[in-house]
Amino acid sequence: MPKAILIDTTRCTACRGCQVGCKEWKNFPPVATKQRGTHQNPPDLGPYNVKLVRFSEHMEADGTVKWYFFPDACRHCLDAPCKSGASLPDSIIQDKETGAVIYTEKTAKEDFATIKSSCPYDIPRLDPKTKRIVKCDMCIDRVRANLLPMCVKSCAMGAMSFGERADMLKLAAQRLVAVQKDNPKAQLCDMESVSVIYLVADAPNMYHKFAVAEAANTPGMTRKEMLAGAFSPLRKIAQSLQG
Ligand code: SF4
Ligand code: SF4
Repeated sequence: MPKAILIDTTRCTACRGCQVGCKEWKNFPPVATKQRGTHQNPPDLGPYNVKLVRFSEHMEADGTVKWYFFPDACRHCLDAPCKSGASLPDSIIQDKETGAVIYTEKTAKEDFATIKSSCPYDIPRLDPKTKRIVKCDMCIDRVRANLLPMCVKSCAMGAMSFGERADMLKLAAQRLVAVQKDNPKAQLCDMESVSVIYLVADAPNMYHKFAVAEAANTPGMTRKEMLAGAFSPLRKIAQSLQG
């Protein structure tokens, strides 16, 4: 059965437990960084930081400041454009059981620029040492051992849930209805086409440029259009719950 992760950003406090848990589980090396006047650190995803809590600060018209937190990582697209963009048949694979999109060691033979530009969420990064292209693998080793992905396990705020896709869609729809009572712009980002579904309380671009699929470099085609996910009846779950 396909799996999914629901990330409820309204419960995220930017503690970065998921970011640290991911880095520890993956045994990624430390990366030199510096204070840049923002809570977001490091500044971007990297080969040794495949999970990053993005931090956006916005000034309201009345002078109050709003913070938006977005724990960014691969969305595990149902029909992954990065997989379609690969030149080798088995450098990027999709696990049949879970739907996780996994980069193998053969990504070292792929053209990084092609793979990176094919991703509508700007996720793939190049490991300069191994030349492999890297990203989140949905903690496939843990999931196969009936453990939660480490980022989900590490979240003390209950902002992340993992389970069967159908269950996560149902939970997402329920949370959307609850959050929309106070936040009319709340929405589920690209839920028909991805396995990592974000609930945001405001316009997605307030959180991150690539919170939803963005325009591609491909002339005449947007990255969003590259996603093959067609309209899904699952969206109707949310609509029916809204009455
Ligand atoms: Fe590939 Fe990007 Fe989709 Fe992840 S989010 S599966 S890297 S296209
Ligand atoms: Fe990192 Fe695993 Fe979470 Fe992916 S699922 S972001 S690899 S902890």
